[in-house]
Amino acid sequence: MSIYVNKNGGFEQPETVVRECPHCGAQAQLVPVATPSYEALIEAKPRHVGIVYRCAACNEPRFVRTAVRTLGPERVELATNLVEIERPHERFQYGYLPEPIERALRETLQCYTAGLHNAFASMVRRTVRAALKNLDANAPRQWRELTADVLRVGEVDAATADVVETVLFGMGEDPPELDADVAAILIEVVKDLLYQGYVRTAKLKAAIRMRRFFAGESGNVTSIDRGRRELA
Ligand SMILES: [Zn+2]
Repeated sequence: MSIYVNKNGGFEQPETVVRECPHCGAQAQLVPVATPSYEALIEAKPRHVGIVYRCAACNEPRFVRTAVRTLGPERVELATNLVEIERPHERFQYGYLPEPIERALRETLQCYTAGLHNAFASMVRRTVRAALKNLDANAPRQWRELTADVLRVGEVDAATADVVETVLFGMGEDPPELDADVAAILIEVVKDLLYQGYVRTAKLKAAIRMRRFFAGESGNVTSIDRGRRELA
């Protein structure tokens, strides 16, 4: 099955396309909103064209590139191998991070998504340094232990583990060169460190504060309800 741009009658895509949305994460249909015109294709004879779809779930634009197969007198045939320009973003509960660390981590994860592994490594080190400076004096030791733990859980070999640890905690020189495989491990480690250091801590503190508040009440249903009202 192909996609056609007809001389009379415009854009024709017989099959609906459903994919994970990089914006909302839903498995949602791609609905065409901006498609190339037949006249423009015949005039320019491009090898590839861009199509703008929108996500049926969240309405965000989805930019797609595809190949031109044939330029015919009645219609132009496009390949159905649609390459999305925006890849799904790495998710993180950024709301728990102090603002400068949030910014650094966002850029770090964007480098990973873009496949820029060495830029990713440099940003990882920068993010880790900023985060550790912001935490207490025990944090560097704890983060090394956490890292060792994640690498052990992931059954990462010693040489790779060494590269990951050097990127994270190395002093002085630039981080070592990374390939896709090491980057894949490193992103899980760095997300876990930031999660443990900020998200988990903040959630635990809030949960314990809440439980102690209720424990301080007499414990019956009425007082819990009153407590909830006061907290709301
Ligand atoms: Zn969406």
